[in-house]
Amino acid sequence: MTQVGVLALQGDVREHAAILEGLGIDVVKVRRAAELEAVDALVIPGGESSTIDKLLRAFDLREPLIARLEQGLPVLGSCAGMIMLARDLIDGIEGQQTLNAIPMTVRRNAFGRQVDSSEVELIWEPDGSRMHGTFIRAPWVESHDSDVEVLATATGPDGDRHPVAVRHGQAIATAFHPEISADTRVHEALLALI
Ligand code: GLN
Repeated sequence: MTQVGVLALQGDVREHAAILEGLGIDVVKVRRAAELEAVDALVIPGGESSTIDKLLRAFDLREPLIARLEQGLPVLGSCAGMIMLARDLIDGIEGQQTLNAIPMTVRRNAFGRQVDSSEVELIWEPDGSRMHGTFIRAPWVESHDSDVEVLATATGPDGDRHPVAVRHGQAIATAFHPEISADTRVHEALLALI
């Protein structure tokens, strides 16, 4: 049976698990390398990327996770998870590291610290349908390589549109939080990669 892991170090672990379980998926909360080894896909939740980064190293999960991502493990990162999947980071904290799964530069807290939370109507490019995105101190994709597919964009406080959902190979990242809505399309897109 397909098992999907949710990286359970910090953040919206329960919310992601609930959506996946609602889709009939067997969910494993991943805190150890052996748990990571057993999953067919992984979610890196929203939360605080600098904390997730530190805990990944403290739990000796960083190197095994990078290895599985390089082998093509399907992965979904939301918000802090998007930051974790980036190659490069703008406005990270001193020494903050990422997993380099998507060739993109992500701007952390891009929508502004004062705009703590907002609901934005997006177009989900894979099928042209509308989607509500919940943004909480969200990043955006500042730049990316040409082989990164943009799945949704949103207008920032600067008036420009920026990618807020992307796919590269087996990795999907969203700046918003699909785990705190009843919408399952982003999680279904992850499951389609297995
Ligand atoms: N600003 C947070 C970070 O840097 C991300 C916010 C979130 O995941 N809601 O990790």
